[in-house]
Amino acid sequence: MLPATRTSFSVSAIVGLVIGGIIGVILDIAGVPAGSAIGAFVGGLGAALFLYAERRRALIVGFVVGLFSFPVELLIYMGVFTLNLYTPPQVPEVTQDVLMIALVVTLIMQIAGGTIGGLLGGIIRHPPPGVVEAPRPSAPMSMLPPPPPRPEKYCIQCGAGLAKETAICPACGAKQPA
Ligand SMILES: [Zn+2]
Repeated sequence: MLPATRTSFSVSAIVGLVIGGIIGVILDIAGVPAGSAIGAFVGGLGAALFLYAERRRALIVGFVVGLFSFPVELLIYMGVFTLNLYTPPQVPEVTQDVLMIALVVTLIMQIAGGTIGGLLGGIIRHPPPGVVEAPRPSAPMSMLPPPPPRPEKYCIQCGAGLAKETAICPACGAKQPA
C-alpha cells in the first residue's frame, strides 16, 4: 500500500495526458512548431513533477504520457471540432506517404517529449544523492571533540585522572590532598 501522499501511476499519467493534450492542441492550433511534442513534454513533466513520488517511475510515466499523447490530442481535437470551436484551415493535398511520415515524426517527437519531461520532472522532484543532502559520513577525526587534557595527578582513592587543582574527585568524591 502506497502512502497517501503518492498519487498512483495511472492517475499521474491521465492528469499528465490531459494537461499535455490540452496544451499540445492549443499550441498546434496557434501554429507553434512541434506544439504537440511540447504539450507531451509539459504533460510528462507535470505527471512526474507534481504527481508521482518515485524517480524511476517518473521516467516511465513521462514515456506513457508521450506514447498516448497522440490519441488524447486527437480526442481533444475531435471535441473541439464537434463543438465548432475551431475550423481547421484547408490543408493542401498531400500524398499518403507524406501523411504517414508526418504521423510517425509527430509520434516520435511526442514520445521523446513526454519521456524527457518525465525524466526532468523526476530529477527535479528527486535530486540525485549528493546534490541536496548526502548522507553524513561518520565524523572525521578533526570533528571529534578534543581529547581531555592530560591528567596531572591521579585520585588517591579510585585512580581517576585529575587536573592539578582538583580538590574533590568527580568520579568517587574523595577529597584530594593539596
Ligand atoms: Zn576518585
